[in-house]
Amino acid sequence: MIHTATWKEVKEGLVTDIYFDRTKQILQAKGIDLHVRAEVVAHVFPSNWPWAVLAGVEECAEVLKDLPVDVRMMKEGTIFGTKLPVMEISGKYLDFGQYETTLLGLICQASGIATMAARCKKAAGKKEVISFGARRIHPTIAPLIERNAYIGGCDGVSVGLGARLIGKEPVGTMPHALILIMGDTVKATKAFDEVIEPGVRRVSLIDTFNDEKIEALNVAGELGDRLYAVRLDTPRSRRGDFLEIMKEVRWELDLRGYKQVKLFLSGGIDEMDIEKYNLLADAYGVGTAISNARVVDFSMDIIEIDGHPLAKRGKMSGSKRVLRCKECLKTRVCPVEESPGRCSCGGLEEEILVPFVSKGNLLYPLPKPFQIREFVLQQLSKVELRI
Ligand SMILES: [Zn+2]
Repeated sequence: MIHTATWKEVKEGLVTDIYFDRTKQILQAKGIDLHVRAEVVAHVFPSNWPWAVLAGVEECAEVLKDLPVDVRMMKEGTIFGTKLPVMEISGKYLDFGQYETTLLGLICQASGIATMAARCKKAAGKKEVISFGARRIHPTIAPLIERNAYIGGCDGVSVGLGARLIGKEPVGTMPHALILIMGDTVKATKAFDEVIEPGVRRVSLIDTFNDEKIEALNVAGELGDRLYAVRLDTPRSRRGDFLEIMKEVRWELDLRGYKQVKLFLSGGIDEMDIEKYNLLADAYGVGTAISNARVVDFSMDIIEIDGHPLAKRGKMSGSKRVLRCKECLKTRVCPVEESPGRCSCGGLEEEILVPFVSKGNLLYPLPKPFQIREFVLQQLSKVELRI
């Protein structure tokens, strides 16, 4: 028996916390159907992240476009801070209240993954980061994980269906299984070179049987210029000083004229490892750190009822604008009546909580994954990894 919900069940409101169903039942019984404005905000980020990347917007559109509501939302890929509304919905509460669980679920996990991918990419700079984490999550959501890893900044993804969703070819190297079954690293690398189409990069895995340095030289000797990279997936129990192992491999390859052979790292790599190894490594395969990233804890709060500002304790009432400087990205939230002005740096402010859906109509064409990724990378150059 399959344990996942279908998209049809999601849209029918079946993946909804029961208290929203009961609220609907009570309001209907009492004949109360008020116009409500609600906003979605993250009040804190996990692990002291100074910012997060908004993702899951395209899937929100799938839900919102069938509801008689007006929505303003930040664009997918927007880098935002805590305490800023990323979405504002207005309409009859009975028309959208029961979708709170669904809408939060669509952006909390997606934004966490996109944010961690962006953090890894920020740490890696020009070096490649490939998403390898599909094996750590439920296969039915692997394409979603891969898409959010890519739009967050990953250069490629390893799963075919995920790659198709973002309009790219999947990226991969070779598994230990191939080397163990063929009995020898050079033999396996040679077979890969003979069988796999020439357009695919030759990346040899060099930690299966022998020392990485010896294996790297053996495969470089066999493939020569055709060898794109060697992959070090060295188990933690055998790593010792991983940086020293990498230095040694680099030194020996360079000494013998294999300067073009890149060092590809994988095996439990996270953003901190990338910072540590980035002087020597050329590319990373990142799995668990991205696919199982902490979620961004968004909450949805009512801020206005029947045109009157009203919010629970601890939340600011009323409709708001989010104004961000185009130059330095300094962001402020203000009452909706205020207009964009000039930032203290001299840059012009722009509104980033923009009209998204109105009574079933999408108000702008949704961007392609590569466009969202470019938008993220452009903002990423203006923010720091830590406060
Ligand atoms: Zn500014």
